[in-house]
Amino acid sequence: MNIEGLYELFKKSCLVDTDTRNIRKGSIFFALKGANFNGNKFAEEALNKGASYAVVDEEEYKRKGNIILVEDVLTSLQKLANYHRRQLKCPIIALTGSNGKTTTKELINVVLSKKYKVNATKGNLNNHIGVPLTLLSMTEDTEVGVVEMGANHHKEIALLSGIAEPDFGYITNFGKAHLEGFGSVEGVIEAKSELYDFLIVNDKKVFVNPSDKIQMQKTEKAKRILFSSDIRFEEVNPFVKLSYNTVQIQSNLIGKYNYNNIAVAITIGVQFDVAMDDIKEAIESYAPDNNRSQIIKKNSNKIILDAYNANPTSVQAAIENFKLLKDSFKVVILGDMFELGENSHKEHQYIVDLMDACEFDESIVVGANFYDTTTNSQQFINFESLKEKLLTKKYTNATILVKGSRGMALERVLEYLN
Ligand code: ATP
Ligand code: MG
Repeated sequence: MNIEGLYELFKKSCLVDTDTRNIRKGSIFFALKGANFNGNKFAEEALNKGASYAVVDEEEYKRKGNIILVEDVLTSLQKLANYHRRQLKCPIIALTGSNGKTTTKELINVVLSKKYKVNATKGNLNNHIGVPLTLLSMTEDTEVGVVEMGANHHKEIALLSGIAEPDFGYITNFGKAHLEGFGSVEGVIEAKSELYDFLIVNDKKVFVNPSDKIQMQKTEKAKRILFSSDIRFEEVNPFVKLSYNTVQIQSNLIGKYNYNNIAVAITIGVQFDVAMDDIKEAIESYAPDNNRSQIIKKNSNKIILDAYNANPTSVQAAIENFKLLKDSFKVVILGDMFELGENSHKEHQYIVDLMDACEFDESIVVGANFYDTTTNSQQFINFESLKEKLLTKKYTNATILVKGSRGMALERVLEYLN
């Protein structure tokens, strides 16, 4: 079946499902394959659970009339998403970058939602499947689409841009994340810039932070919308405060790095004619979740929990920000950073050197990678051994920064910090 045919079926319900545990009545089930599963095997189950059609790519599973055989299910999903996107009248804003995509996406979402019906990526559905699903969830009522795009190898952002065909784009930063797939920071810059390439070739617009040299350099040929010089950083205590002309904005976001995330949300709000009071209110009411830079009070201690993920750039940003805080007793607990490939040792050493130079009241590292470094920090090879320490140690009036890769699940320390 060609894409036009598939689109006719999609339009009947406008629902696409990929997981038989959550089938919506009347949907089209796309039988995707993963490393450990073959969706084709679930096509009939999806129909039994209420899907109207199932799309498969292995002939033996085409057992019924409403099972549609295509050459490749994933490619069909992506093509359908692009076909749908072309029918949509709404502008689409695409976001990528090494850190801060979801936070920035949510900030843009709350700001634009003051004036428009916004359809933004749900959670972190930012990959080759999530982006098509996001697009397919947009309807003719959608007034602005905001699409987060993630990548851990080259050509991925080019593919996602080709599917979403954004009208606007922004790259949060170029950092040391997923170095395993990109090889180096230069590789990261090149890969993320695939979004700029799309926007430049198609004469679309790019939001640019004028104080970011790489962004400026990479967008020389683009139609740029620069952050206004009237947006100013005021302070971080520990929440970021900024101003736009005479308007003061007090965010609930910790970490100086969030200044840029907020600044682009303001810039986009202004571009889309959202009233300044509404922009302020939206930003001030936004609080992150999922262990992304939350402040948790426990007894007399204040824990800055940033255990959602970690890579050299975001850890460096977190340490530098922590250094700025004027709190009296500061403790840092860092967990290993993953997916750094051959740079792993060097990057872990770089981080402990940075931390040693800060001379926090206590520095603690946990995980086999940090265990392998030379540092003044207290080193623990795994969470279990750190737990032993935490069970016997009593902190009072301490401010404790907790950051590590998702796989370290450092939010577990909350249980053991008294
Ligand atoms: P993912 O790759 O998992 O989708 P993401 O890019 O969506 O991540 P967020 O989830 O918004 O990023 O933030 C994750 C962490 O990145 C934050 O908790 C914070 O530590 C850090 N971070 C956020 N914004 C920036 C930034 N602009 N520069 C550096 N680090 C940042
Ligand atoms: Mg994200």
